[in-house]
Amino acid sequence: MSRGLLRRSIYKSPAQLRLMVAPGAATGAALTAMKAAVRPGITTLELDAIAEEAIRSRGAEPNFMLEPGYRHTICANVNEHVVHAIPTDRPLEPGDIVALDAGAIVGGWNGDAAFTVALPDPARPERTELIQKLDHITEQAMWRGIARLATASHLNEVGEAVSGYVRANSDFGVLEDYIGHGIGRKMHEDPPVFNVPVSRRGPEVKPGLVVAIEPIISAGGIDTIVQDDDWTVSMADGSLSAQWEHSVAVHADGIWVLTAPDGGAAGLAPLGITPIPIP
Ligand code: MG
Repeated sequence: MSRGLLRRSIYKSPAQLRLMVAPGAATGAALTAMKAAVRPGITTLELDAIAEEAIRSRGAEPNFMLEPGYRHTICANVNEHVVHAIPTDRPLEPGDIVALDAGAIVGGWNGDAAFTVALPDPARPERTELIQKLDHITEQAMWRGIARLATASHLNEVGEAVSGYVRANSDFGVLEDYIGHGIGRKMHEDPPVFNVPVSRRGPEVKPGLVVAIEPIISAGGIDTIVQDDDWTVSMADGSLSAQWEHSVAVHADGIWVLTAPDGGAAGLAPLGITPIPIP
């Protein structure tokens, strides 16, 4: 039998899509709780505990700690840290830009999402302006990618929308080494979700496709390095970066942002897309 016949379809059944609602909601609750708590003076270890409580109180489990060797609920990527940074006891400071990434698992199904917050520093207006713009451009690039998923015929149109928005509105860099992914029984599964145009069209966008769309945008270059802890990925040139991420389901009636409390309604409304709950 060929390997192809053994490969599991990337498309979920309607019943499987419904099973992804609970882990998505638990992941969204962790983000909401961290958004309410994040401020100068709090540590990313404290935010980690807040996210864990939000997930467990909904009968879910943090799924990042199911990764071999990882012991935390979140990754907390401060300033030049890009992804996979371990929470620490360093209090956040005015002028920091921090991306907080969390995920939850319920009944064997996963959610994965991230947001960035820019903490203003009144003493450094140029720094404040830069981090707020980096945050805004990254979030809006994510919503452009999600909106394109709603109308795309093939998945790799998402990367055109993400990078097209960034290039039209900034001179920021779109990282190419870190990409979105399918999500389901595994947190990371096929298909890859590129943030830039690629030569292939990618899989067909049709009901059952569930993907994490997660642009990472840099204020400088796009090259990254892995730190000595073997987890933390940093910008090679030390520039600032931001990340936004949502897990999004395509179903028979439209799209639904599984990890947003409103299904993505607020973020998608300006783009003319109305998310529809999974039937
Ligand atoms: Mg992800």
